[in-house]
Amino acid sequence: MSRKVRADIHLDAIVHNYRLAKAQAPTTMAAAIVKANAYGHGAVPVARALANDADAFGVACIEEAMELREAGLRQPIILLEGFFDADELPLIAEHGFWPVLHSEHQVRWLEQFSSPARFPVWLKLDTGMHRLGVAPDQVESLVARLRQCEVVSEVLLMTHFARSDEPSLPMTRDQLGCFDRVAAQLGLGASLSNSAAVMAWPEAHRQWLRPGIMLYGATPFGESNPVADQLRAGMTLSSEIIAVREVPAGETVGYGATFSCDRTRRIGTVAMGYGDGYPRHARNGTPVLVEGVRTSLAGRVSMDMLTVDLTDIPQADIGSRVELWGQRLPVSEVAQWCDTIPYTLLTCLTPRVPRVYS
Ligand code: PLP
Repeated sequence: MSRKVRADIHLDAIVHNYRLAKAQAPTTMAAAIVKANAYGHGAVPVARALANDADAFGVACIEEAMELREAGLRQPIILLEGFFDADELPLIAEHGFWPVLHSEHQVRWLEQFSSPARFPVWLKLDTGMHRLGVAPDQVESLVARLRQCEVVSEVLLMTHFARSDEPSLPMTRDQLGCFDRVAAQLGLGASLSNSAAVMAWPEAHRQWLRPGIMLYGATPFGESNPVADQLRAGMTLSSEIIAVREVPAGETVGYGATFSCDRTRRIGTVAMGYGDGYPRHARNGTPVLVEGVRTSLAGRVSMDMLTVDLTDIPQADIGSRVELWGQRLPVSEVAQWCDTIPYTLLTCLTPRVPRVYS
């Protein structure tokens, strides 16, 4: 292998994180969210690792659901975002997928569809995110219509939070209040909790949790949280030093000359760049581990390489191992240095990075 770039996927950590999510609400079911290739970790291997634990899987679209079925996974699969067309209803019925319905026109499709197979549907309420979901005053009549559909075996109500990762703000409580005002009369099962709500909003747990990012060991919070502190990293992204040089004081490093040497600095070049999915906008100072020692980026990230400061790590040399994120360097911390969130770093890792499973 000419480039030592790799993403080690820690399946045991992902199982631990799923169990930690469920332990927050032991009588509740939990759909393991494995959309977007399990947030970059590989949907099929992750789902297989979770197969003995997960009550269901959550994906974004039919293609992702089919990938799991074709790999032999038999759990219910929730089409979380309601991406499906009317002509895909036979596939949904055949494979027992559970579609989320976010708009009235999807209810109409179900009214016009007949099949010997029946399946549950989740009706999404817009409680304040204003992206997908039916308005609260439509819910009662839509539920009544769904109950008349021959293919619908059960209706569950769901909603999605906009700011549950900011527990001190009132918006989640407002969304919950809106949901409860609508749901109270209907006596249906409910699903509200993404990872942040699993960890910080016990009053939102209800019948089905929907943990995503926490399965992969990353925290959605900007601050510490007692449950998030117990997560284990699902991925270690690593590479190696391929070149080392002394750069004199006053010289600069890399494209745009964004890093200036205040004194002679020992600069290491690492085989990892934005062509692998490492964020180009990572700033100087973004942490990395070289031979387990913390140092930082020195210069702009290029397509196939990045540069790091080795001045205080004399033992580092060509071939030294470099960890870009993992258990000892949380992907959430790296994300903060890039003014982004861990979700993007994980999902944007490109196919050029081999995933190695253990
Ligand atoms: N539920 C829905 C509807 C989602 O869209 C997502 C992810 O975006 C999740 C659950 C999981 O969210 P998180 O990864 O923050 O746990």
